Amino acid sequence: MDLSPVRVRFAPSPTGRMHLGSARTALYCYLLARRTGGTFILRIEDTDRKRYVEGAEQELIDGLHWLGLDYDEGPDIGGPYGPYRQTERREIYQKWADELVERGRAFHCFCTPERLEQVRQEQQKNKQNPRYDGTCRDIPLEEARRRAANGEKHVIRFKMPREGQTKAVDVMRGEITWEYSQLDDTVLLKSDGLPTYHLAAMVDDYEMKVTHVIRGSEWLSTFPVHVNVIRALGWPEPVWMHLSVFLKPSGKGKMSKREAAEAVKDGHSIFVMDLKDLGYTPEGVLNWIVLMGWGVAEDDVMSLDDMINRFTTDNLNPSPAAINFAKLDHFNGTHIRLMQADDLAGRIKPFFEREGYRVDNAKLLKIVPLIRERLVTLDDCIPFAGFFFKDDVSPLPQDLLAKDLSPAQSADVARKALAILEALPEISHPSAEPPLRQFVEEAGLHPNQVFGILRVAVTGQKVSPPLFESMEIIGRETVLARIRRAVDMLSGL
Ligand code: GLU
Repeated sequence: MDLSPVRVRFAPSPTGRMHLGSARTALYCYLLARRTGGTFILRIEDTDRKRYVEGAEQELIDGLHWLGLDYDEGPDIGGPYGPYRQTERREIYQKWADELVERGRAFHCFCTPERLEQVRQEQQKNKQNPRYDGTCRDIPLEEARRRAANGEKHVIRFKMPREGQTKAVDVMRGEITWEYSQLDDTVLLKSDGLPTYHLAAMVDDYEMKVTHVIRGSEWLSTFPVHVNVIRALGWPEPVWMHLSVFLKPSGKGKMSKREAAEAVKDGHSIFVMDLKDLGYTPEGVLNWIVLMGWGVAEDDVMSLDDMINRFTTDNLNPSPAAINFAKLDHFNGTHIRLMQADDLAGRIKPFFEREGYRVDNAKLLKIVPLIRERLVTLDDCIPFAGFFFKDDVSPLPQDLLAKDLSPAQSADVARKALAILEALPEISHPSAEPPLRQFVEEAGLHPNQVFGILRVAVTGQKVSPPLFESMEIIGRETVLARIRRAVDMLSGL
């Protein structure tokens, strides 16, 4: 791969939520820019006002920031080629549309939507590809300009050659050839004066000096339109890459809206900001998506810096990738275990707070090493460790019963363990474990019988972090009070 500094843009449309596909496109753009010491641009393609969704741009910006994919130029930070929001660049598109008309490569089309619909139906009936029938292609320019100046409603269409072939190169897919007879006179400027993607993106890539276009493969079908527009204007062509599509976990087709919603109930999502709320880390998500279409070892655990150092477009893979949430869990857990304790503490704290717990930082730092190994998502800290921040716990009496022991026997075990702990000036792992183990042995019990009662008594739950460390964090007085209460509860059974 050529390592000269690139200018590469992530150019989302604010038409919905930021999903994994956009995140991966943004990531590859970012990696290519950083790998080559180039520039990563965010451009908002908001010319489709019908599909515009309020708040979508902010979610994209939040998503990029959360993932750590900081851009060098963009709508909120500016840059030398701004503005970076297409609706703020109208005149620029108008100018280049005029230029294409002037060069005889585009034309005014006055056809009404009703007529176009009729043509479409006719073509469908005759089993032809639906395309513009050419009615306005040959209106003399003077006449067209006069009609337009008189306010007659019109669009500007690209004048696609009618015969021969056109070719373009996608670095992942090689050279692609199209017959002109299959291509349409695509609309470049709509009747409201706003450009379509086909004009706006090409103009902006040129004006913003974009050298590499990394985008989704949904643009492959209109790829020949784009290269023809660029060539008609005599502009340099960027390097093109159309990324693979994401398929649903079964590998059969794309995920539907309903399936996407179902995934959330399962603790997963295809939307970036949902993943944040579900307790995934940017590191885990990035590691997961970077491998969906990049041919390095599947289980490579990489930080963003590692990715930058290793990234190359040479082994990007165009075949569709099935979304595999188990891998996301794997990478998320792995990255959690790689975090420094204070970093992890800072990340799980908001999840405790979301549950209404008041979190003491010093205590939190002690808890982190006890739960780190067991966290798949950050919010797993709640079931494992939420009890640490409760003033009181309320175990179920039945849960206090030790396996194979009656209530009276369980109460007796609890009472004896209590006496052992009461005799200790402080309760810590080294002070509490040896005398309790000795008791287990002398009483001929199974360790789980004794420690199970104590665990439920002290933490209120059957599954918890290691018992002695937990008791140490909870503190002697509270531990003793909770075991006394458990003795009472068992005695009452
Ligand atoms: N606005 C287009 C989209 O959201 C971007 C395609 C491109 O990167 O050129 O799909």
